[in-house]
Amino acid sequence: MVRFAMQALGAESPHQRGAKRSRSEPLVELPTSPPLPLQLQEEEHQLAATFDPDTLDCQICMEPLSAPIFQCSNGHIACSSCCQKLSNICASCSNPTGKIRCLAIEKLIESLHMSCRYAEYGCQKMLKFTKKRGHETSCPYTPFKCPASECSFSGAAKSFPEHFLEAHQTRTLDFQYDVWFTVVLNPTDLHVLLKAENMVFLLHYEKEALGNIVYVSFFGAPHREEFFSYHLAVKSGQTRLTMESVPRSILQEDKRSTNFVFIPRPLNVPEGLVQVELSFHHPGEAISALHINP
Ligand SMILES: [Zn+2]
Ligand SMILES: [Zn+2]
Ligand SMILES: [Zn+2]
Ligand SMILES: [Zn+2]
Repeated sequence: MVRFAMQALGAESPHQRGAKRSRSEPLVELPTSPPLPLQLQEEEHQLAATFDPDTLDCQICMEPLSAPIFQCSNGHIACSSCCQKLSNICASCSNPTGKIRCLAIEKLIESLHMSCRYAEYGCQKMLKFTKKRGHETSCPYTPFKCPASECSFSGAAKSFPEHFLEAHQTRTLDFQYDVWFTVVLNPTDLHVLLKAENMVFLLHYEKEALGNIVYVSFFGAPHREEFFSYHLAVKSGQTRLTMESVPRSILQEDKRSTNFVFIPRPLNVPEGLVQVELSFHHPGEAISALHINP
């Protein structure tokens, strides 16, 4: 049996990947110099090759192709849901489609293993083509832009404790879910990183004219917000201010949470230390965990 382990063509950055390949480009691009490594194993051959991964996207909906794949009598292919949406009329030539399977492409896709798109950020997973997109939505190496103002750093979630310490002199505290812990905020603090098991959270401490605002976000995709919640309590004078909320993904456009605790500052009183008590709850993440460990 010969199995191809293909690599994406070129060192494309994640930011460039949104742009789709023009349709005039060849379907398969042949390897160019330098020669690619050839790995031979005892029971099966694995050949390395390069190709443009966009060639295996449905040219109508631009989603990755998956079986069943259909072709018209002229060989134009489309995914099954596009065939249905177009009432089994080929989008390219208007011939009937939806009856002839394109088994060659189905077989190619079934045998394909590809690296994660975040390989350059440290992900070493080799994924079946059909599992790749799902993994990438929850890949622990998804890069995030540093939320500190005027900082151009971007990296995987777990690189932020080191980055914040070196670039912003910001500390990281380790904590456990469902256990209360205390963070003491200095007047000069803008952020404190909070790290638990597989997730990095960011405590924001924003200064406003009449007081300060405290809330939490996390380095993860927006669809993971529902898997976390937290309690936050601040003592201000004789008052204890509390909030129960969901941390906001750092990727959300409007990064400031609409849920925050406002700590009013008495006029003409110098700002002092603020003691924040926190407890995080993480009831589990069955679906995303599958993506992380396919
Ligand atoms: Zn489609
Ligand atoms: Zn056609
Ligand atoms: Zn990955
Ligand atoms: Zn930074």
